[in-house]
Amino acid sequence: MKESELYERVEKWMKGHFRCFATATNTGLAYSRPDVTGVRDIGGDLSGEVESIIIEVKRGDSQPFATASGQALGYRVYANRVYLAEARARPFDENEIQIASHLGIGLIWIKGRGCTEVLSSPSYTPITRLNRLLLEKLALGHCQLCGSVFRIGEEPKKKFSRMTREKIDKAIELERGVMFWNREVADRKRRLGIRNSAEEKTFERRFICPDCVSGVLSQLRGRE
Ligand SMILES: [Zn+2]
Repeated sequence: MKESELYERVEKWMKGHFRCFATATNTGLAYSRPDVTGVRDIGGDLSGEVESIIIEVKRGDSQPFATASGQALGYRVYANRVYLAEARARPFDENEIQIASHLGIGLIWIKGRGCTEVLSSPSYTPITRLNRLLLEKLALGHCQLCGSVFRIGEEPKKKFSRMTREKIDKAIELERGVMFWNREVADRKRRLGIRNSAEEKTFERRFICPDCVSGVLSQLRGRE
């Protein structure tokens, strides 16, 4: 079986096991391409905090264990938890579990049609910039008002289809969220060479979710 055929199996398992509300396979990012990615709610009643999980999927015999483990570990720049999933006939042995645990990755055993979480991943703080880009690849954005994560559009083509562009009235009417641009921050980054100065447009995008639009912003409409 090819690695790519295992992705779907792991993705399906991850949805149920980790209770992910969004998942994706083979997500293209600037610095890598995670095999399977999932996002789940961990915020309790008082916050919209989410956790992203990346799983590196291998056929057990495809490369040395420590190499595959290292690759899985690298994904902590993007995600809160990182796993190595291997399809193999025999379970992970003591040495492999020790290596994984020493490095700080979780282990998943893909055996036949099923998957088992053998070792859980520690929790990491990813680089915010990279984590937000990963979420955007899954068509998810952060609401600037309530702090929760919500669907902003449909990947890959209608990336922002559930947003209006700085049009609050239209967003209320269509029950969408609002997308706006932070021009001051964009200018500052351009001035300091953090962003290409030739770029006229600002890419400094921010979102407000449909719930904040209908529950909060709609009440401000028509007020002087
Ligand atoms: Zn919100």
